[in-house]
Amino acid sequence: MENKLSDRINNQTESQTLAMTRLSRELVAEGKDVINLSIGEPDFDTPQLIKDAAKKAIDENYTHYTPVPGYPELRKAISNKFKRDNKLDYSPEQIVVSTGAKQSLANIALSIINPGDEVIILAPYWVSYSEIIKLAEGKSIVLPSTITTDFKVSTAQIKAAITDKTRMLWFSSPCNPSGSVYIKEELFEIANLIKDYPNILIVSDEIYEHIVFSGKHESIAQFDFIKNQVITVNGVSKGYAMTGWRIGYIGAPKWIADACTKMQGQFTSGTCSIAQKAAQAALEADPSITFEMCHSFKKRRDLVLSLLSEIPGLKLNQPKGAFYIFADVTAYFGKSDGTTTIKNPTDLTMFLLNKALVAIVTGEAFGDPNCVRFSYATSEKILVESIQRIKRTLELLH
Ligand code: PMP
Ligand code: GLU
Repeated sequence: MENKLSDRINNQTESQTLAMTRLSRELVAEGKDVINLSIGEPDFDTPQLIKDAAKKAIDENYTHYTPVPGYPELRKAISNKFKRDNKLDYSPEQIVVSTGAKQSLANIALSIINPGDEVIILAPYWVSYSEIIKLAEGKSIVLPSTITTDFKVSTAQIKAAITDKTRMLWFSSPCNPSGSVYIKEELFEIANLIKDYPNILIVSDEIYEHIVFSGKHESIAQFDFIKNQVITVNGVSKGYAMTGWRIGYIGAPKWIADACTKMQGQFTSGTCSIAQKAAQAALEADPSITFEMCHSFKKRRDLVLSLLSEIPGLKLNQPKGAFYIFADVTAYFGKSDGTTTIKNPTDLTMFLLNKALVAIVTGEAFGDPNCVRFSYATSEKILVESIQRIKRTLELLH
């Protein structure tokens, strides 16, 4: 029998962040000493009080199916968190807890987008946005930015991209992969533009909110005049070092929350009971438990920037949040070590993987043909070692 798959899956691209991680794990299994700077996940362990809450949940038999949108007490904790940290008023009925923010985004896309609807994405963008939108049969309209605009897209660009078919606008701030942060005035301008298009919904992905290095995180839903058009996406993976627990959530107008719940009810049901109890403990704890990790990320950002700036071919800016450096590598295009010629950032990442044994991710996965992404969510010792390897290897290119 022919192994015939759906067009849907045939049209999907493997997540490049996960693909590079898979490749580096394969090389490690072959005995190679690969350093993986490709996956974006904190190297810290989950704080003890969160782990204790999970152990307690098991002992107290939180082991049954959970309500599809999440335990009421977790949705209450999220509602309180939105008030405490973001000055946002979302009632528990407006909150849906999912198996990671990735599922939150998939729920949104599948609940809102009709075939042919256009979704404006501010680039560079997180790798899975365009693939999730494709799955929902939407059309991504990618708005580019470069290092010269601090990897931020202007309101004028957004305005020019709006058509009768525009249904949504997706972005993350702090941004994965650039670490750029849209400031309050910029968010206000975007909100002010979109309010004139009541059929356009904004997906504001704020999963890196606790990893901001100066000033404080701002949510676009804070402007009352736009709130009914905003879906705020967040989760505990990054700020609380809980990637493996798989808890993400949205705050949204109730009709959207209800639709996402209906969608999720057919895919996964309510997410893991124990992880929900752990997330509740995280969100009810003093937010200062995130500060120390944020402080370490900032120290590492400064270290990595100073080390990478010694490599003449890299163009760098200073990320204001998250834990990535998005470097412009166009200076290497057309260069060769005698065997391999670098034509694009993907060639450069493969060259570094094979020759330096360091895994990073091509900017092409994030809608940017000029850059590569380094995750610095690892120890200073590993960062120093990996950048030495990168520097030595890039010196081979002429
Ligand atoms: N949004 C962004 C911008 C991300 O970088 C990620 C990846 N961690 C996610 C959403 C999904 O996170 P998770 O599914 O772990 O909650
Ligand atoms: N979001 C992280 C990253 O950008 C984790 C991997 C993934 O889910 O894509 O690396």
